[in-house]
Formats: sequence, C-alpha cells, structure tokens
Amino acid sequence: MHRLIKEHIVPRFKSRRKDVEIPLSFLADSAVVNEIAFTTDSYTVKPIFFPGGDIGRLSISGTVNDLAVIGAKPIAISCALILEEGFPLKKLDELLESMEKTAEEAGVDVVTGDTKVMERGKLEEIVINTAGIGIRNPLLEKNLKKVVEGDGRSLNSRWLDPRNIRPGDKVIVSGPIGEHAMSIMIARGELGFEAPNIKSDAAPLNHLIDEILEVGGIVAAKDPTRGGLASLLNEWSEVTKIGMIIEEEKIPVSEGVRAASEILGIDPLELANEGKVVLAAPPEIARDVLEVLRSHPLGKKAEIIGEFTNEYEGVVVKTEIGGLRYLPMPLGDPVPRIC
Ligand code: MG
Repeated sequence: MHRLIKEHIVPRFKSRRKDVEIPLSFLADSAVVNEIAFTTDSYTVKPIFFPGGDIGRLSISGTVNDLAVIGAKPIAISCALILEEGFPLKKLDELLESMEKTAEEAGVDVVTGDTKVMERGKLEEIVINTAGIGIRNPLLEKNLKKVVEGDGRSLNSRWLDPRNIRPGDKVIVSGPIGEHAMSIMIARGELGFEAPNIKSDAAPLNHLIDEILEVGGIVAAKDPTRGGLASLLNEWSEVTKIGMIIEEEKIPVSEGVRAASEILGIDPLELANEGKVVLAAPPEIARDVLEVLRSHPLGKKAEIIGEFTNEYEGVVVKTEIGGLRYLPMPLGDPVPRIC
C-alpha cells in the first residue's frame, strides 16, 4: 500500500496552486488549501456492526479526527454511500442514525452526499466514503505562541505538524491502544474466543483536542489508525529525522487487548485505533497537556510514553525488562478491512 501510494498515486497529482500549504505529497491527515483543511476516507470495515460502534460512527469519527489533528476545526462532511443491491433498509437506517448522532457529538453538519447501488455479490453490504472540510482552529494561534515563547524555537509550519518537533519533545498517547482493531477481529468470530470487555474506541476527538489547544503548547498530533502506534511513531521519526525512545511499560494497553494479542501473536503497537490521539509537546508543557487529557472522558488513561532524541536513529523501545529494541514500520495490517 505504501509503495502503491508513493510510486503510483502521489507523483501523478502536482500542486499548481500557490496557496496549497499542506500538499498531497506530505501524506498528512488533511491537506490545507487556501486556509481550508480537506480530507477524505473510505470505510470498508467488516463486520459493519461491532462492539463499541459501527461503520457509520467510524466514517464520521475518522474524518473529523483527520481534520482535528492538524489543528483544523471540522465544519462539514460529505456522505457517499455505495450499497449492495438488497441491503436491508432497516440496517441502513440504523447506520444513518449512528452517523447523525456522531456528527451531532462532533458538532459537524453532513451537507452533501451521493448514493449508488451495485449488483448483488459485486460489493459486500456497504462502503461509505466521507470527506470533510475544516477551518483553521481559532485556538491554534494561542497554542503555537505558547510553544515559541517557551523555548524560542522557530516553527516550520503554522499547523500541528511533525515538522515542528524538536529533540527533547515528549510523546503522549491519549489512552489504551489496540481496542478498535482487536474488537473487529473478535467480532468476526473466527478466532475461537470471545472477549466481551474489548470494545472499539471509535469516537470524534475534536472537542478533546480543543481542550488541549486551549491550554496550549502542543506541536504535532496524529491519530494512530492503520498500522497503529508503531506506524505513527515511525512516520514521525522519518519526517523529523529525529530518533525516539519509547518506554514500553508506559504504553497504555488494556488487560483484554494484551491477553488477546499474546494469544494471537500480534504486537498491540501495530493495531489500529479510531479514538486515540498521539501528541508531541515540549517537555516543560507535557505535564499540563497530560493533566488536560486525563480530565476528559476520552483521555482518562493518557500517558507520556517517551521522547524525541538524537541519541538514536528511528524508534527505539525500552522493554519492560530494560533491554532496547528497534520498533520497525509495520509491513502490513494483521487483518484487512479493519476500518
Ligand atoms: Mg489519520
């Protein structure tokens, strides 16, 4: 997938406009054109209903989160539905209700859309595509000002952007990882065990991120979706060309996800999340950010898990028994159609 995108898709589409501030080639969560943040995502998750959510909730949350993590305030969403002929109306109504509820939760409007039907057997049940636009978050200026006043760094970007990260910045995760992907795998019923306490974390994070920006001082944010925390940390290390040391024992993982991962031989660090955010913040501010996170229902179990450092290249994990290991970029998803 990485090669397909980098070698075939991205080189085709060049930026002609001068006001493209975050272009396609950055492969960021959202693009920024003429002060407008813009993102799109297609959802193919199987099954379409799962513990903690459904494809409808996922489709709104994912797009809202991709806007929020670059420092945009999500405003409007499109809803494109591709349905398999004969898809039950009752299920469709349930999914649409879930989309509307999630949009209300996030404070965004669904303002445009498209509906297509494909022949039975040519598509499994339903595919949803959502695109979203956002405006520059009014709280962003105050947030970045606090960073600059703190250590006098010069910023490479006016947005929440890994290019603003410096050695010494702390890495914070908003809560236990791996819950979304694990809940999907278990919901498929192919693993031979059940785990009723593992639920998807799918949720819009824009209000949580607003509260963090209000306190101020974060330099970058990203949602650890496909490829999980492992992919996110490697991407940040690649973009910044700064190494990272992560303390394994600080990474929040629920008992259920830890146990299920052990049984399946999967690293929870590679599992997708749909309601978590990873933040980078200067050391003198990280504690305040952590406090704000922990006072919010979606960030109760937040932790500072490590920091950027020039001592290492790439992402190094200090294991619970004190050894060091490299955390590689995940080669692929443990299972397809997780989101
Ligand atoms: Mg994202």
